[in-house]
Amino acid sequence: MIPRLKPALGARELLAALAPWRGGVEEFEAAFAREMGQRHAVAFPYGRTGLALLLEALGLRGAHVVCPAYTCVVVPHAVVASGNEPVFADSRDHDFNMDLELAARAVRRSGAQALVATSLFGYPVDLDALDELRARHPELRVVQDCAHSFAAEWKGRPVQREGDAAIFGLNISKLMTSVFGGMVTTDDGALAERLRALRAQRVAPARWTKSLRRLAYLAAVYPAFHPVVYGVVNRLERSGALDRFVRYYDEGVIAMPADYLDAITPLEGRVGTVQVARYRGLVERRRRLAAFYDQALAGTPGLRLPPAVPGATYSHYVPRVEDRAGVLEGALRRGVQLGELIEYCVPQMRSYSARGASAGDAFPVASRLSRTTINLPLSAGPRGARRAAAVLRELLNG
Ligand SMILES: *Cc1c(COP(=O)(O)O)cnc(C)c1O
Repeated sequence: MIPRLKPALGARELLAALAPWRGGVEEFEAAFAREMGQRHAVAFPYGRTGLALLLEALGLRGAHVVCPAYTCVVVPHAVVASGNEPVFADSRDHDFNMDLELAARAVRRSGAQALVATSLFGYPVDLDALDELRARHPELRVVQDCAHSFAAEWKGRPVQREGDAAIFGLNISKLMTSVFGGMVTTDDGALAERLRALRAQRVAPARWTKSLRRLAYLAAVYPAFHPVVYGVVNRLERSGALDRFVRYYDEGVIAMPADYLDAITPLEGRVGTVQVARYRGLVERRRRLAAFYDQALAGTPGLRLPPAVPGATYSHYVPRVEDRAGVLEGALRRGVQLGELIEYCVPQMRSYSARGASAGDAFPVASRLSRTTINLPLSAGPRGARRAAAVLRELLNG
């Protein structure tokens, strides 16, 4: 079976994991900062841990923080964990990102003190619109969520540098990975200092048992993505037998993982350092596959293709269909697993609507996106992409 994602982990990452003398977290931070063109990078066990402590380092508590309605739910979870309150803004239809006009309105209405600007699926945030918003609200703290968009560019400007700081997620489903882990980058030396101090105070040092668990996890990733093994795992997953391991959120609960304040391990740092060196190549590969899909799928009835934006990193290639369940099922029967990430509109989830997140507000675009987006494999190579495109055309041409 062709999996919807396959981490780009090779022998080099495994060897680095097994070589403690090759450094750890500090080396990873230095390499990451250099690659992102930023002065400081501070590593965390998860991207969401980085966001929660960053908001605290920015001096925010009891503040409103504007977030996209259509984003990974761990982002508002981190806002809540930091003692702040998310306020949601609907998306733009054409590139999935938060509508910054609506975000500006949310800032004025709620008196929000910060905003999380996400380059979703790798589509760079509209920095012209963001500049305008920041000019009108100079006090507003801006955090770039680059979990899908390491070094994505808007008209040649890297998004991660346009704000107070940027956060990155590094689990195995991301563009590059350190097994788990997250990063915060900034050019603000004083902010980086405060963030490091907070980390020293709040995040417990990594114990060797955690390194061992991470090694076991990493070692399991290699065979898990073998086509035969993956087919079996997928069947178990669909039966619900693996829910305890694979579900990353619960519709009704706002929570952080139990280990979100246990430091990232040196082993993860070493894997991350290898991935940083490979990053530009990994993104180029995704861009080529996205261009291939654009061409191969043009004109397919009932399929709305994603925009082609120069500077996008294509963490996901995301067309839209009306009958998503039917398409996912049909593709799976033909040996291709399509993704449906992100399949929810955050303010309409039980946990957030119960907090009054969507009170008096509608999120028509985010809501539609949550029901119609699918994503195609970008990590199965050209052959996997050709197969996925052929299957999708076959399904939709009836
Ligand atoms: C993955 C992700 C994050 C961070 O995720 P962690 O699992 O906490 O590392 C943040 N924002 C978005 C949009 C993401 O997809």
